[in-house]
Amino acid sequence: MNILQKILSRMWPDKPINETKTEMVSEPEAIEQIQGNAGKLWPQLCRETIDYYKKLGCPCAFPRFIQYTSIDCVDSGASFSMRETESFIQASDDCFDTNEIDKGNECYRAILTCKTCGSTFMKAWSDFSIAINRTYLKPLELKAPQIGADAERPIPFMAGLCGYSLPDKAGFKHVDHDTFRAYLRAMKDCAKFSVTKILNNNRELLYDGNQDRFYDNHSLVFNKQRYNFRISDVISLENLQHILNEAFFKDVINNMNFKSSAFDSKVYYRSKEGLSSGYLKQDELIIIVSFGESQPCRYKIFFEGIVELQSCKQNTG
Ligand SMILES: [Zn+2]
Repeated sequence: MNILQKILSRMWPDKPINETKTEMVSEPEAIEQIQGNAGKLWPQLCRETIDYYKKLGCPCAFPRFIQYTSIDCVDSGASFSMRETESFIQASDDCFDTNEIDKGNECYRAILTCKTCGSTFMKAWSDFSIAINRTYLKPLELKAPQIGADAERPIPFMAGLCGYSLPDKAGFKHVDHDTFRAYLRAMKDCAKFSVTKILNNNRELLYDGNQDRFYDNHSLVFNKQRYNFRISDVISLENLQHILNEAFFKDVINNMNFKSSAFDSKVYYRSKEGLSSGYLKQDELIIIVSFGESQPCRYKIFFEGIVELQSCKQNTG
């Protein structure tokens, strides 16, 4: 018996080991490991996904985030790790307070508590060999209302799996970057909003200047209420379709006179000056702004309008 077989038999004493297969495989096998351009986009996609969750609440509110962080090869008696699982756990680390506990059968175990909603998770880590280690983050108690869409099967993946014994391929489906991004961001229909009012008659230039102060704090006043924001808080407008029902999203785009343009198979929305568009969510209000470099070294921010929301839950009672 080689070392790997010893480890495997210790971990799953009831599971017969496929001697022939294990002897033949010296390198771990992979299902579609991420490569090339997609590989370069991967760290950014993970970071942006967690930032997106944070802007709408916290990762705990998204069943599809939990779907990936909970994948644990030990549950299926296989020996693999999934890049999606590892990367999302790493990228979401600062969302949680960590309390290390007795390691049990693992190399490391901790109880994580969400800094936003107080949900608790068990995090564990073990290495099975030099090439394969796996981490998981499984919910113990979820306190955030689930606003993300339900998890689907087969499980979509972009980055892939690697291991000595891989799970059944039928349970996984390789998808491209944009499909994966949309899957992670999708909202539950009942968590989507309908629009009660679109107000865009008070379009206003909020900033006109150089790049240095473009990233500073800006503020706008609406209904005698002051709203402060930074450009880094603004969510790209195309994401609004994840939280608005489709017809309302189209209404907003038309009302604001935004023009759509496709680039790299993605649709973007721009203001009449050609500036990027985005939004900030403040409770039941969506504040829409456009921003960017209008001429070389000259940056502008416009307040484009306000959208009042009503959750579809309220509509249906
Ligand atoms: Zn949370």
